[in-house]
Amino acid sequence: MVTAFVEGWDLVQTLGEGAYGEVKLAVNRETHEAVAVKIINLNKFPNIEESVKKETCVHRMLNHETIIKFYGSRQDENMQYIFLEYASGGELFDRIEPDVGMSQLDANRYFKQLISGVEYLHSKGVTHRDLKPENLLLDDNDNLKITDFGFSTVFRFQGKERKMEKCCGTVPYVAPEVLSRKPYYAEPSDIWSCAIILVALLAGELPWDEPTYSCKEYCDWKDCKITQSPWNKIDNLALSLLRKVLLENYKKRYTLEQIKKHQWFNKSFKSRKAGLSLYPSGSPSDSPSGTGPFKRLCSRMEMSPPNTASPRANISCSQPELRPCNYPESQPDARTDRKDNSNFIMSFSQPVHLDNMLLSSQIQGTPGSSQTPMQKLVRRMTRFFVKTDQEETLQEINRVFDHLGFTWKKNTPSLLTVSTVDKRRTRLVFKTSLVNMGENLLLDFRLSKGDGLEFKRLFIKVKERMKPVISKVPPMWPLHPIRPDSLT
Ligand code: ATP
Repeated sequence: MVTAFVEGWDLVQTLGEGAYGEVKLAVNRETHEAVAVKIINLNKFPNIEESVKKETCVHRMLNHETIIKFYGSRQDENMQYIFLEYASGGELFDRIEPDVGMSQLDANRYFKQLISGVEYLHSKGVTHRDLKPENLLLDDNDNLKITDFGFSTVFRFQGKERKMEKCCGTVPYVAPEVLSRKPYYAEPSDIWSCAIILVALLAGELPWDEPTYSCKEYCDWKDCKITQSPWNKIDNLALSLLRKVLLENYKKRYTLEQIKKHQWFNKSFKSRKAGLSLYPSGSPSDSPSGTGPFKRLCSRMEMSPPNTASPRANISCSQPELRPCNYPESQPDARTDRKDNSNFIMSFSQPVHLDNMLLSSQIQGTPGSSQTPMQKLVRRMTRFFVKTDQEETLQEINRVFDHLGFTWKKNTPSLLTVSTVDKRRTRLVFKTSLVNMGENLLLDFRLSKGDGLEFKRLFIKVKERMKPVISKVPPMWPLHPIRPDSLT
């Protein structure tokens, strides 16, 4: 659905949903610049205004290649708009094959970028406090970008450090001291979360539900019982790094400097082809591993809102930069290695024409044409083509969702909201869209609430059950490069 947003800009699709609102892709009709717009209805949630102020205040201080750029924010009556760099590569969790992970080459590369981002944040005196794969996005060159500064705060100001008191984050990713209800240091707790992310990258599962003595898996780790999954899937060198970081005693825990000196961090992993082959077996959903045990899930703890409100600036804009777009002479094979295709991937320039969006008070909601090539843009593995038409596909979806015990509702004839609970009885909500792509119908699955890895496991189950109607066309992204003139 294309929606006129402000003059010259179209809201072309929903990129994702968070706890407080939606994130949409806005594209400039003339220049094809793209931005992500986080849209929050301030009336919907009590005290949300203070949290949003805090989030924007912290985010606008940041400027680094591993951090989603903050372009500005604007409030129109009860609606808050936050303009962010668009990450067309989707979310990092989408690249993790449940129970398998990814190659060490890819994990090492993402981990290095994560550590570089966290090092930058800490150098600015900022702690993220909710690092997890769902908050790590990828740009069109597969570079990692940290986002969602909803829980972030300043822990060091003018050289003076303060301890954290709020217990926040996502339980399986938080350090033990965060759950202790005692003041804790910001830096080691972010570093702990980075190590849990590394386990997820290397093994496709989380090591424990929570780092407490009531959790057997955590006690086993502490007792050096590491013959079980996920540890038995992780190479010894990587494991030796994890043993230094996932230390309960934060004083002994590796610092970022020490992590950067570790052998696994500095090892050169052999590339299979020219670069980033993300899935050893093509698509993660092609893997038979989807049936294995996957026990650990997340629920986000919203135990307290971020503290201290900072004065809100109505409009701000960091320096945008212009990037060239590369378009191929001929169309590449969609099944070839993604790195090989990287020059062919539609690459938006970053916005230099944001003035309208930052200043306009005439935000509209005019529906436009319902299908555009823009819908091909967000890179996501949780999708497949079907051979059936819309009606037959909906019947098949009905059958499969009923069989899996999901509850669902139809928002529009081509958009379903599906709810279920995961193994930890945590709510999981996702959206299923039927997108008409010319000859083929594409089924696209997008997480709304819940744990990303568990969502991927469910996707695999759905895909297995829908096999009879799945078309052979690979769901790799990009299917074909999109020329800018086809977007208007
Ligand atoms: P949460 O519930 O985690 O607090 P939130 O309301 O803060 O969520 P985000 O996590 O920032 O919202 O964004 C929700 C989703 O929107 C992301 O998971 C991602 O899929 C998508 N998204 C957010 N920002 C961008 C971006 N800059 N580029 C592309 N997609 C984005």
